[in-house]
Amino acid sequence: MDVWTDKELVDAISGDPKSIMCWACGANIDAGDNYCRRCGKGQGGCVRWYYKHWGVLVLTLAMGPFALYFVWRSPVLSRNAKWTYTALISLFTWYVAGVFYNFWLFFQAMLGGMQLPY
Ligand SMILES: [Zn+2]
Repeated sequence: MDVWTDKELVDAISGDPKSIMCWACGANIDAGDNYCRRCGKGQGGCVRWYYKHWGVLVLTLAMGPFALYFVWRSPVLSRNAKWTYTALISLFTWYVAGVFYNFWLFFQAMLGGMQLPY
């Protein structure tokens, strides 16, 4: 099962204690299991830090748009949260690119002795 509906994800994370499945590989796990017995991924409160909200912020600062990979793989973030993060990370990337571009222009002006080359 590769594509999960939101309901299935919610059930897998927090819901029905009778049929709990690993969010990553779909294996059946016990209600008390913090980690999947087949693939070893953390469940419920034990998901890896980079799938949580603060982890996304750290990843964005460290990796920029590559953080989106983890945002969309995360079992804890809702679909709305994923789209919100996608928009925020895009804005952040655009802002940082602008800062670097201005810095580059400034740097070039310095190298040219504050003289424009034309
Ligand atoms: Zn698993």
